[in-house]
Amino acid sequence: MKTIELNGVTYRWPAQPVAVVCIDGGDPAYIEQGLQDGILPNVARFIRDGFSAIADGTVPSFTCPNNMSLITGAPPAVHGISGNFYLNEQGEAVVMTGPELLRSRTILAAFADAGARVVSITAKDKLRKQLGKDLDLTRGNVSFSSEYASRCSLAENGIENVPELVGMPQPDMYSMDLSLFVLEAGIKLLERDRPDLLFLSLTDYIQHKHAPGDPVANEFYRRIDDCFGRLAVLGAVVALTADHGMNDKSTAAGRPNVIFLQDILDEEFGLGDTRVICPITDAFVRHHGALGGFVRVWCRGGHATPETIIDRVKSLPGIALALTKDEVCRQFDLPPDREGDVAVIGDIGTVIGAAAADHDLSNLADARLRSHGAITEARVPFILSRPASADFCQRAARSLHSYQIFDYAINSTGQ
Ligand SMILES: [Zn+2]
Repeated sequence: MKTIELNGVTYRWPAQPVAVVCIDGGDPAYIEQGLQDGILPNVARFIRDGFSAIADGTVPSFTCPNNMSLITGAPPAVHGISGNFYLNEQGEAVVMTGPELLRSRTILAAFADAGARVVSITAKDKLRKQLGKDLDLTRGNVSFSSEYASRCSLAENGIENVPELVGMPQPDMYSMDLSLFVLEAGIKLLERDRPDLLFLSLTDYIQHKHAPGDPVANEFYRRIDDCFGRLAVLGAVVALTADHGMNDKSTAAGRPNVIFLQDILDEEFGLGDTRVICPITDAFVRHHGALGGFVRVWCRGGHATPETIIDRVKSLPGIALALTKDEVCRQFDLPPDREGDVAVIGDIGTVIGAAAADHDLSNLADARLRSHGAITEARVPFILSRPASADFCQRAARSLHSYQIFDYAINSTGQ
């Protein structure tokens, strides 16, 4: 039987379509609340009849590193993507979402090259090119974002007229429809083309704005659960995980609970001596104001050293960990050449920013700040619509990483 090898894992040829869904910001708390509220009948059935666990996600618990971990089956030390930005040797902030920075082949491209039919759909276009890296779009394979659904072409995406196919207009960038469109398109393509593999990656806009149990959050989860059920009815193995969780990062008064680290370091070591990079930063300003639970500090001016920075910050209230480059790379399997001199990680209720002047918080006034990036948001659901074999269950009991989702979805049927 034909198999695929990637990053030390052997993947069987899927006997039936496999649909892996990355519920962006899908903290286990939403599933727990939804099960209690009885609004997730399909997820409840998967948990009862299939396989369910909490897995370790990639730290920093951001969208890009985790999506790349999921589709390569490997940690960032292997695939190279450890955030949205890093500082290069010239001291320039480099966007890390380019496919040229992804150092691994993807499971999707490897299967496509072996003749499988592959569909990759993401809500945010920033992920599309990395998800579709080396994916041959001339043979019925598809890669697009719901953000730019109406711009799809055969040459760039392997598909055109997507809104007509899905029966929905191109959704607003800040809406639950941006995620629902991804799932509805996946369902349509599963029905029409019966692809072997689907990777469906949502957006976390709802989870940034709405806590578990909130009516909007529950409406969103009720609707995605309905989509999961329809994927299963069409004969797919449905595998659910998340890129990261989500926690409330506000003060009792409802203001963002922020440590502006650049201001603290500037005061201690002098203006411009250090450079704080917030690797959560992206174009989606309304979600989080570029405030997350993990930042990197580069020593630039010769005063601060990793040790003096760590001494200054480690006892600040709200800081969980401050680690040197070596320590953080070893602990979280990160690529050293894209790491700062110090990594600073917040606790469950705190975000870390650069300078106060760098963050526009005016878009956050409509809701309490909820965000991610820290270790506390790296616990994610890991659910299969069918059971896993005994040896996979035993492996999972010892350790389970979310980047093993394709391995479990494809290989754990037991034969
Ligand atoms: Zn995310």
